[in-house]
Amino acid sequence: MNRQTKQRGAILGLLRGGYCHLTADQVYDEVRKEIPSISKGTVYRNLRVLQEMGLVSELNLNDTVSRFEAKRDGHYHFHCEGCGRVFDINEPINKELDRRIADRTGYKISYHQLEFRGLCHDCRKK
Ligand SMILES: [Zn+2]
Ligand SMILES: [Zn+2]
Repeated sequence: MNRQTKQRGAILGLLRGGYCHLTADQVYDEVRKEIPSISKGTVYRNLRVLQEMGLVSELNLNDTVSRFEAKRDGHYHFHCEGCGRVFDINEPINKELDRRIADRTGYKISYHQLEFRGLCHDCRKK
C-alpha cells in the first residue's frame, strides 16, 4: 500500500467510524494519532479527493465550518446547540415534500436540507 492510499484509508476509516461528522481540523487531529507525520495540507487535500471520488460528503449546515462524513444515503441532521456536535437522524429524506413544493411553486427542486437544533443527551443532563 503506498503512502497516499494509506493516508486516504485512514481518513475514510475515521469518517466511517462511530462519530462521523468532523471538521477538517478534527480529522487532522485524529489522523495524526495514526500517522504522526501527516500534514494539515495533506489532510485537506485528501478530503477533497475523497469528495471527488464520491466517498465523502461535505455537510452544508448552518455552521461556519465545514464538516465531513462518509457518504451514505440521504438523511437529516441534528445539531446540538450545547456542544456543537452533529448527529444523524435516522429519517429518510421526504421526497414528497420536494414534489409538493415543486407543484406549488413551479420551481425545479434538486433537494432540500433540514437541520434540527437543540440539546443532545449529554447536554440535557447538564
Ligand atoms: Zn450536546
Ligand atoms: Zn450525517
